Amino acid sequence: MTIPNTHTVVISTKNKHKLEEIHAIMTNLPVKFLSLDAFPGAPEVDEDQNTLEGNAAKKAETLFKVTGHSTIADDTGLEVIALDDAPGVHSARFAGPSCDDRDNRVKLLQMLQGANDRRARFRTVIAFASRSGTYFFEGVCNGSIAKEERGSLGFGYDSLFIPDGFTTTFAEMAASEKNEISHRSRALKRFAMYFSGIVEGDQ
Ligand code: IMP
Repeated sequence: MTIPNTHTVVISTKNKHKLEEIHAIMTNLPVKFLSLDAFPGAPEVDEDQNTLEGNAAKKAETLFKVTGHSTIADDTGLEVIALDDAPGVHSARFAGPSCDDRDNRVKLLQMLQGANDRRARFRTVIAFASRSGTYFFEGVCNGSIAKEERGSLGFGYDSLFIPDGFTTTFAEMAASEKNEISHRSRALKRFAMYFSGIVEGDQ
């Protein structure tokens, strides 16, 4: 039996929820993950690009250069059809530079007041920066924006987002239920498939 090499992959986040989700999906692969906490001197990367792909690549490539290890980074946006896909790449700062998640949700509800078309999607892009280049993996979750906030779980826009096929918002679902269908888990599963191909090539 060949013992596979263990790859080291840096994850460009300190967010515990994201780290747990990644570990759960990549569980059977010989990969050692290091979070940003392992690199206290790593620079803060400004998410100043105008696409999710641009921000994800900027974060992954910066960390790859600094650490010398392959790196994954993600960026997520909420795209509302009636708002021409806004807030999109600006989802984190939708209500202004020093706003919080609640301010963003209030602004979104205001902008959709009286709107019949409330369709929206979450889109996550993962960039994987490595010696052989940068690769992208996308995950989408389609749904609609509720008329008022519901639920107290999750974060960000969760209490306003009802995924297609459900009557509950993400904030009314257990984390495991959300992770089954979420944009981020779909992007991660695509990355995991690609990465298992790399690992198999080594054996
Ligand atoms: P980030 O790319 O994870 O930094 O997220 C960008 C923006 O989208 C932030 O405002 C987050 O709160 C929001 N966001 C990202 N993922 C989710 C999610 O799964 N549910 C709700 N909001 C999210």
